[in-house]
Amino acid sequence: MTLRIEQLCKTYGNGVKALDQVSLEIPIGMYGLLGPNGAGKSTLMRTLATLQDADSGSVFLGELDVLSQKQQVRRLLGYLPQEFGVYPRTSAMEMLDHIAILKGITNSRERREVVEGMLERVNLFAHRKKAISGFSGGMKQRFGIAQALLGNPQLLIVDEPTAGLDPGERNRFYNLLSEVGENVVVILSTHIVQDVKELCTSMAIIHQGRVVYAGAPVQAEQNLRGMIWQKSISRQELDEHRREYRVISTKLVAGRPLIHVLSELAPGAGFSQVDPDLEDVFFSLVNQAG
Ligand code: ADP
Repeated sequence: MTLRIEQLCKTYGNGVKALDQVSLEIPIGMYGLLGPNGAGKSTLMRTLATLQDADSGSVFLGELDVLSQKQQVRRLLGYLPQEFGVYPRTSAMEMLDHIAILKGITNSRERREVVEGMLERVNLFAHRKKAISGFSGGMKQRFGIAQALLGNPQLLIVDEPTAGLDPGERNRFYNLLSEVGENVVVILSTHIVQDVKELCTSMAIIHQGRVVYAGAPVQAEQNLRGMIWQKSISRQELDEHRREYRVISTKLVAGRPLIHVLSELAPGAGFSQVDPDLEDVFFSLVNQAG
């Protein structure tokens, strides 16, 4: 099963072009969709999840036309939205039971088995009778994955899943996702480079509605080999360096700015070459202004 997106376009009523000729081929496994806020990720995710229409283009999941055969696609789809909205006071078990009915599991004995199995799988069985509204951020995300996985989806879409999770919760969530990714198409949309780095074998970077890179994260890093230079400077030197070089990122190390510069030739004194990482890839593509 492959998800094929071709020339997808969407312009909102206010004139914002959220998707501009987006074409991607997404195989089984974990696929990262990386982009800064406002890049168009949610628009793409909602379109793939059949919740929103595109202006033009096509999307196929295997043989299914995602843009027109919405009902059929929904049976194969699991979706974890960025914002769940209000978390109900209902218990995790009751809520999953309810969702399982909506997904067509009508036999109550079968449903009980499926729901309990899912609660075990996401490590919430011990909390199954507690209200979801009282869950921690990590527990809510694991509940979110549980509801998305009910009914064995072939396509799983998760939108910005690790926002607000502490490092331990994030790890548990990562492990759960990568387990799922062995059999189905999982699209993970995020603005966090680390998420993609740790989880995904292929990815796309989108910026201002356009695909600016599609391929393996490792390949993207290799493409920049020999071109990333770093230098520790004082705050006062920052503006001058920004004018003179193509500064793609600035971070503070022990209170002092450490800049990364993109340059084919050695930029000069004080710079040292570094191995490019995925952050360099990301910032070199989305910080075009330098
Ligand atoms: P991301 O998920 O990458 O942050 P979005 O898909 O939410 O990006 O947004 C892409 C662009 O479209 C942004 O400029 C955003 O402000 C705009 N946008 C999103 N939803 C709407 C909407 N319903 N109406 C108008 N503009 C929108």
